[in-house]
Amino acid sequence: MDDQDAPDDEAFAFETQAIHAGQEPDPRTGAVMTPIYATSTYVQDGPGDHRGYEYSRTGNPTRTALEANLAALEGGAYGRAFSSGMGAINTVMNLLEAGDHVVTGDDVYGGTHRLFTQVYDQYDVEFSFVDMTDLDAVESAMRPETELVWAETPTNPLMQVVDVQAVADVAHEGDALCAVDNTFATPYLQRPLEHGADVVSHSLTKYLGGHSDVVGGALVTDDEDLDERIAFYQNSVGATPDPFGCFLVLRGTKTLPVRMDRHCENARDLAAWLDDHPDVSEVFYPGLDSHPQHDVAARQMDDFGGMLSFELDGTLEEASELVSSTEVFTLAESLGGVESLIEQPAPMTHAAVPKAEREAAGLTDGLIRVSVGLESVEDLRADLERAIDGALN
Ligand SMILES: *Cc1c(COP(=O)(O)O)cnc(C)c1O
Repeated sequence: MDDQDAPDDEAFAFETQAIHAGQEPDPRTGAVMTPIYATSTYVQDGPGDHRGYEYSRTGNPTRTALEANLAALEGGAYGRAFSSGMGAINTVMNLLEAGDHVVTGDDVYGGTHRLFTQVYDQYDVEFSFVDMTDLDAVESAMRPETELVWAETPTNPLMQVVDVQAVADVAHEGDALCAVDNTFATPYLQRPLEHGADVVSHSLTKYLGGHSDVVGGALVTDDEDLDERIAFYQNSVGATPDPFGCFLVLRGTKTLPVRMDRHCENARDLAAWLDDHPDVSEVFYPGLDSHPQHDVAARQMDDFGGMLSFELDGTLEEASELVSSTEVFTLAESLGGVESLIEQPAPMTHAAVPKAEREAAGLTDGLIRVSVGLESVEDLRADLERAIDGALN
């Protein structure tokens, strides 16, 4: 499975690795793009004498290329791909045992919160949900039985930034594993393994796929033992991706750097414009000087990403009117695609959170989240201006 002819990936810049890492022209046909190996099984030359692959749940060459590509981009030695981000996150949870304790953020992705509280809770795993921008809170939540510290940064939808190195240090002092969900930043902007994390998790559905046409997940680590355990659960549980999905993500990662540059540029422009808008009471974007963890973000990230939220100075209904009346922004959940999306967390992505709890966490009725796409920023600005005007008048 090792590509003897592949260049020494680490010698190349991120942009070059995004296109080439894990991939080389098909040795049989010369096809420049990694083929979609649509096969469930592989011939054996004698019982047990296979050529690296036996069965496609366990391994598939298209998936191998994607896994090597993602590992290179995160600066880790080992990558594993899954059929969804949740499949990847679940695999980290498979490493735990009954009686173990997990420290995590009070604003983790909704699906992660559901997996923790409604699935792993019944297996006697305990959770502490804390404000992870507050290191004292993380430290005081640690217990002797804490085995995992699960961080996400920037968070959704308030774009809080967690200091990965500091949190990893706290985890390691307590002999716990530190996992970081790097979906929002992508490895182009932030590589948590460089900041002490043991394992990085991704929803490939978002920026890495990048075109809103595939669901997938991944885990990357630099630790061989950890990777072996991950591979065991990947194969045993079976939330593995099909080769067509792997091909789509591989196609996506090739343009990740250029896409992210434009996502960041457009988001920075919109954040500044919204920040000056009289009908907007607050803008949540790590790139703004006013962001509470702007310094951590500037240190930890190469740029500030394509996600931002803002609070319309209006009612729940007015905010709903705004998100329903844009023409360029599409009203939809999810994020990270080439097209701009807009949503209102209170009645949509965060509807399951009770109103009092929601408001206490800053998820107000007027809060609007946007995934800034690659369209003309003038069109995006004009679209928001029209929708804000229409909603409030
Ligand atoms: C979407 C998302 C997930 C879940 O990934 P799926 O591919 O939808 O299963 C996990 N974490 C974050 C931060 C996400 O945005």
